[in-house]
Amino acid sequence: MINKIDMHTHTVASGHAYSTLMDNIRTAKINGIEVLGISDHAPAMPGSTHEYYFSNLRILPDYIEGIRILKGVELNVLDSEGNVDLDDRSLSFLDYAIASLHLPCYEGETVKDHTDALINAMKHKIVKIIGHPDDGRYPLEYERLVIAAKENDVLLEVNNSSLSPNAFRENAHENYKEMLRLCAKHEVKVIINSDSHFHEYIGAMNHAMALIEDIHFPKHLIVNFQALSRFIDLKSEFEKNRR
Ligand SMILES: [Zn+2]
Ligand SMILES: [Zn+2]
Repeated sequence: MINKIDMHTHTVASGHAYSTLMDNIRTAKINGIEVLGISDHAPAMPGSTHEYYFSNLRILPDYIEGIRILKGVELNVLDSEGNVDLDDRSLSFLDYAIASLHLPCYEGETVKDHTDALINAMKHKIVKIIGHPDDGRYPLEYERLVIAAKENDVLLEVNNSSLSPNAFRENAHENYKEMLRLCAKHEVKVIINSDSHFHEYIGAMNHAMALIEDIHFPKHLIVNFQALSRFIDLKSEFEKNRR
C-alpha cells in the first residue's frame, strides 16, 4: 500500500531537526506523498521557533512541487486542562494542529492528568491529530482517549518514529497494541505519520505497518489509504474568514 499523506514532519525551525522545508518537499515528491503537513514544534519546546514563524506560514503556496502543503504546528499540551502554547490568533492562520505531550513542557503527574490533558486539548477546533499517544513515560487511559477521539472527530496517531529501534519513547509497541485494539473495537480512525526530523524519513511508515500487519488492524480505519480529501480540503480558519 502506498502512503500518500504525512502530517507530522519537522524542519530546522524546530531546533533539533536537520532538514529544510524544501529538503522535505523534494523527498516527499520522490516518495509519492501527495499531502505534506508542516508541524514544527510550538514555542514552549526548548530551541524551537517564535510564534511569528507559525502565523507567517500563510505566505507559502498551497502547492509546492505539485504537493499539497498544509501549514500546521505540533503544539505542546501544557497541563491537564488542555492548554497549549500558541494563542488563538496565531492558530487561526494555520490549517491544523497536532497536540502532543513532551517531557520538558508538561507538568501533569497521574494517568488521569495525562489522559485529561490530551482529551481537553481536543476542545481546540484546530487540533486534528493527537501526536504519539504511546509513551510509557505518560501512561494513558486508552479507552477514554479512544472514545473522546471519536466524539471529537480527532485522529489518533501511530507514530513511526516511536516504533523505530532507536526511539526514546518507552513501551510504544505494547501501548499501540492496546490503543489499536480499542480503536478496532470502537471503530476509531488512526493516521500513520513519520514524525520526521530528517528528510530521509518523510513518508516512512515501515515500523507502523509492521505492527499493523502483525495485529491485523483493519485497513479501513487507517486514513493514509482512503481519505485524502479530508486533508486536501483543509483550509485555515483565517482563510475561511477572509473569503
Ligand atoms: Zn512530538
Ligand atoms: Zn514531532
